[in-house]
Amino acid sequence: MRVLGIETSCDETGVALFDSKRGLLADALYSQIAMHAEYGGVVPELASRDHTRRLLPLIQQVLDEAGLARGDLDAIAYTAGPGLVGALMVGASTAHGMARALGIPVLGVHHMEGHLLAPMLEESPPDFPFVALLVSGGHTQLVEVSGLGTYRLLGESVDDAAGEAFDKAAKMLGLDYPGGPHVARLAESGDPARMRFPRPMTDRPGLDFSFSGLKTHTLTAIRQLEASDELDDQARADVARAFEEAVVDTLVIKCRRALDQTGLKRLVVAGGVSANSRLRERLAHETAKRGARAFYPRGRFCTDNGAMIAYVGALRLLAGEHDEVGIMKAVPRWPMDTLREP
Ligand code: ATP
Ligand code: MG
Ligand code: FE
Repeated sequence: MRVLGIETSCDETGVALFDSKRGLLADALYSQIAMHAEYGGVVPELASRDHTRRLLPLIQQVLDEAGLARGDLDAIAYTAGPGLVGALMVGASTAHGMARALGIPVLGVHHMEGHLLAPMLEESPPDFPFVALLVSGGHTQLVEVSGLGTYRLLGESVDDAAGEAFDKAAKMLGLDYPGGPHVARLAESGDPARMRFPRPMTDRPGLDFSFSGLKTHTLTAIRQLEASDELDDQARADVARAFEEAVVDTLVIKCRRALDQTGLKRLVVAGGVSANSRLRERLAHETAKRGARAFYPRGRFCTDNGAMIAYVGALRLLAGEHDEVGIMKAVPRWPMDTLREP
């Protein structure tokens, strides 16, 4: 089955073609980052308009790359949520319009299920069951995954997501949006011994996270350095380092707990923050110590992309799931543990 995947939940237009026999045939991405950077974050109305501009040309581009015509498509999958409702509507209406015109099935899929299963597109994918750490711009969750659609939420952030915390810390340090990669780069030249930020919610049992206090802590540290006229480039790097260490350490502690609690030996890490090298380094060490293994998507599939949507769509479409053509789905809030096995 050849599936066209469409991702428009936030600020990247992602399109891909997945063939259930041959694997990924083509993928393309248009990132709106430069457009939103001016405003320091995503402007929903601008995002929707830009998806409208980019989506059809990107679909043509992946078809050309794969040497296929529209008539060669067997089905279409699109991100139905969670995300910005106007942005989701662009993908949903395009998917349903094409499905009607081509007379093929269409399915709205869950964005976080896409992130979760993105490592399945890699060379040696994990077997079920596994523990998944989903760390992105909008989510920080630990999930026990027994199979496709069998997800048990073990813990999640009670306030900001880890990616969101990176973005806010970046803003305080005068770095561009999205801040994760910029904070990480600056942190490389930071002195890890200069200051230590708290590891929120690690002093008591449980698998929930909280990152909003860390944001306040970062702001206070910056203000203090400013007040004593010490906020030079080195000090900014030291703050970035202390911040990154605190987030990474917190994530590592909770992953360790989740592996212990479930007795599982496989850990999947996905979503934008899974691109963080320090996190990968620390988790490699932790998993090796307990005879476990960590799995990640390739770099460009850590953040939003069409490939993960085409892949999840293919699995569910093959199992017989589909929308009623013309009944578009756009679900801004959609808890992942309400998903079911196909
Ligand atoms: P969600 O998937 O929850 O709806 P999203 O789609 O906006 O949110 P992603 O595209 O998966 O999130 O990831 C973007 C986030 O990842 C941003 O917050 C960004 O700062 C963060 N990020 C990207 N690269 C890194 C990195 N190297 N280190 C830390 N954070 C990073
Ligand atoms: Mg994004
Ligand atoms: Fe995402």
